[in-house]
Amino acid sequence: MIRRKVNQGINLEEYKDIWVIGEQREGKIHPVTIELIGEAKKLVEGTEKKVVAVVAGYDIDEEVNKLLYYGIDKAYYIKSPLLDVFSTDGYSKTIADLILEKKPEIVLVGATSIGRDIGPRIAAKIGTGLVADCTKLEMDPEDGKLLQTRPAFGGNLMATIVCPINRPQMATVRPGVMEKAVHESNPAGIIEEIAPVLKEDDIAAKVVEIIQSGKKRVNLTDAKIIVSGGRGIKGPEGFELIKALADKMGGEVGSSRACVDSGWIDHMHQVGQTGTTVRPEIYVACGISGAIQHLAGMSESKYIVAINTDPTAPIFRICDYGIVGDLKEVIPAMIDELDKTKEFEL
Ligand SMILES: Cc1cc2nc3c(=O)[nH]c(=O)nc-3n(C[C@H](O)[C@H](O)[C@H](O)COP(=O)(O)OP(=O)(O)OC[C@H]3O[C@@H](n4cnc5c(N)ncnc54)[C@H](O)[C@@H]3O)c2cc1C
Repeated sequence: MIRRKVNQGINLEEYKDIWVIGEQREGKIHPVTIELIGEAKKLVEGTEKKVVAVVAGYDIDEEVNKLLYYGIDKAYYIKSPLLDVFSTDGYSKTIADLILEKKPEIVLVGATSIGRDIGPRIAAKIGTGLVADCTKLEMDPEDGKLLQTRPAFGGNLMATIVCPINRPQMATVRPGVMEKAVHESNPAGIIEEIAPVLKEDDIAAKVVEIIQSGKKRVNLTDAKIIVSGGRGIKGPEGFELIKALADKMGGEVGSSRACVDSGWIDHMHQVGQTGTTVRPEIYVACGISGAIQHLAGMSESKYIVAINTDPTAPIFRICDYGIVGDLKEVIPAMIDELDKTKEFEL
């Protein structure tokens, strides 16, 4: 492993282009890849830099080809039977090797469980830094360095971090934070297949079997409507009311961390800085005060509806529609009104 604490003679000029590490699970490209491509395309605007996707795997030619419809300039497809199933060692080694060879200036990784696993390992292998969970990325107009912004000190302030002397500049971004690249009717760019230098012995942990969790997964990231409950629901049974409204509106159930910490609902429902970042069309916050860490995960929602008994609750400062009232009265009244409406469709 190479460890480089300071710049040991790196010529920054040699580093070009923005790479997006394209994540695939069971042969399907994860949506965060398209979000990162969208962000990379914004970052290269007005420059000569290219947007390059990198996907490791095997027998996923069709999925890699789909990326060309999102306006990338190139895709590196690191192809090997040893990469068919995800492994920390196999993926981080082959991607790090390619980075060392091709020298990208910026590498973006999705802050998913896989991205959080391999991102720091790749950064350590190639001797650069990594800024985790960025919520905003910009190019410094003066010197072209990547300005990487993320919540710091428990979400109470936003820190902008630069990587001045090492390359590439690496950042992870959570799913749902950036806008997806637009799907174009004609493909652009090319795919270059890479045959990695990888032996079975390079992969220490062997995947023996993949067992799906019995839990029903909640897809908050892609949900168009989310109805979330907070401590104001008073107990786990309060989620019955939240679910009734979510079902009526065709949405998913979300939660504040207070309810998750109290054991009223599973963490997969949590919205916020340490939960999922969401940007639905409608977000209904029921009995949620609007702490900064909660807002960090939902303030990009198109319309925010807040129901709270306390007219001074911070959530009312950012909502589009605020209802001061007891959720036990307001939610049934909303359901009654929706019953009168024949169709509720976005
Ligand atoms: C590092 C860190 C990370 C964090 N990450 C997250 C995160 O990802 N997500 C998150 O949510 N929080 C997170 N938190 C916790 C956060 O700071 C708040 O503690 C939490 O969001 C509060 O949840 P709440 O709004 O449900 O509860 P409270 O703040 O207790 O608010 C409950 C609200 O319910 C209202 N209410 C009470 N009764 C009723 C009623 N009958 N009808 C209507 N309204 C009623 C009250 O007026 C009050 O405004 C994090 C904190 C830290 C330090």
